[in-house]
Amino acid sequence: MFKVNCSELSGVMKLALAEAISGGLGGSGVALLDGDYVAIDTLSGPEIGAVRIRSLVGSYLSSRSDASVYHLEEKGDSIIVHSSAPVSAREKRVVESLPPGLLQCPDCGYLTTSEEKYEDHLRMHDLMRGIAR
Ligand SMILES: [Zn+2]
Repeated sequence: MFKVNCSELSGVMKLALAEAISGGLGGSGVALLDGDYVAIDTLSGPEIGAVRIRSLVGSYLSSRSDASVYHLEEKGDSIIVHSSAPVSAREKRVVESLPPGLLQCPDCGYLTTSEEKYEDHLRMHDLMRGIAR
C-alpha cells in the first residue's frame, strides 16, 4: 500500500490532505489517515502509481497560500511531506471534530466523504466481527 508520510504536518492539514487525495482519485481508491501517514487503499483494484499520488499531493500543497513551506521527498514506496514551518505537538494531533462532510470510522480511523462508502465500511467491520466470533 502506498503511503504519504505527513508526520511534520498539523492534524487539520493531515485530514485535508487525505481528503484532497481521496477526491483526486475519483473513486479508484481512498486515502486513509493512519497516524502520521495517509495510506492509499485501492480496495483490491490496481495499485495507483507514485507519479499520480505525487501529483495529487503536489497540487494540494501548491493550492495553499503557504505552499512554499512544503517540499516532497520520494522514498521507496512512500512520499514524505516536509514542512519548514514548525508545528507544535498539540497541533499535530488529529482533532476529534472533523471538517464538515467527513465521516470517520470509530474502529480504524477510515475516512470518507461518502455516506454510502461509510455505511459499506461499517458493514464490512460487522461481517469481519461475525467471522471472528
Ligand atoms: Zn473501520
